[in-house]
Amino acid sequence: MSTLLQELIAKGLLIPTGVDGVYGRGGVFEDVLLRFDGYISRLAIEDKADVMRFPPLVTRENFEKSGYLKSFPHLAGPVFSFNRPPADHATLLERVQAKEPWGDMLEMTDTVLTPAACYPVYPTLAHAPLAKGGRLVDVLSYCFRHEPSIDPARMQMFRMREFIRIASAEECHAWRDQWIERAGHWLQDLGLPAESAVANDPFFGRGGKMLAANQRSQELKFELVVPIATPESPTAIMSFNYHQEHFEKTFGITQADGEVAHTACVGFGMERVTLALFKFHGLDPDKWPAGVRDRLFG
Ligand code: ATP
Ligand code: ZN
Repeated sequence: MSTLLQELIAKGLLIPTGVDGVYGRGGVFEDVLLRFDGYISRLAIEDKADVMRFPPLVTRENFEKSGYLKSFPHLAGPVFSFNRPPADHATLLERVQAKEPWGDMLEMTDTVLTPAACYPVYPTLAHAPLAKGGRLVDVLSYCFRHEPSIDPARMQMFRMREFIRIASAEECHAWRDQWIERAGHWLQDLGLPAESAVANDPFFGRGGKMLAANQRSQELKFELVVPIATPESPTAIMSFNYHQEHFEKTFGITQADGEVAHTACVGFGMERVTLALFKFHGLDPDKWPAGVRDRLFG
């Protein structure tokens, strides 16, 4: 266990569950996270984004369509449930009692845990062409990724607040780029010296290496990183993605003029930002620098 994780647990900021990467949040941790959420809302108020909130699930149909399994089969969290005659119930309980595997007695349901907060949004935009100027959507959701780790900044379930721009290629690109600078200032104002870097997603397998190289050479993904638990490899607290027309082609989203739309999204890792605040300013928010306190709690 990392020292930072031990300290967070000792302070009651995170509550261990016995599974790596799955934690309860203590009151102080949660308060800081919600204050940061409020800070984003205040600073972005003039953007007038359409707020959407989904439960942390996507439909299996849309998940399959999205192409997630091509790139990240190892991270997915499909939901399974017991759907057998009552006669099989006793067998299920016996297997559990005997600590034998029981997964084969379950059946896939119509839902999958949300892998990124923006996933439920795209299919909802497919019904009619977008209005002129496109859309700007604001989402926040718990997201699941099966990446158990003892790094407190790599959780299996964590919240992502995202803004999603759906518009022309030029608009999406420019919007994404100006957000890197904008968010960098917001984080600096909270005493977090985040640096921007070109990045790639953790694509699966051998083919994944090529996808990652393509993503980097086209500069489709940037991150703002700060050192949290591992000083030698800083952690992404925000991501800025330009998806080109991937989601629009997949779900059939068109602009007002009938052209296929493009999308970009910017995502705040809410737990990671919260952890960075504790890492940089100490575990007691009452003792944080006045400027940081004013901006978050003022
Ligand atoms: P990483 O490279 O660290 O695995 P990622 O590239 O997979 O991150 P994105 O898919 O861009 O991250 O997710 C958006 C944001 O969500 C990230 O910038 C990060 O702040 C946060 N995030 C991603 N994975 C995790 C995780 N396992 N635990 C906590 N926050 C996460
Ligand atoms: Zn996204």
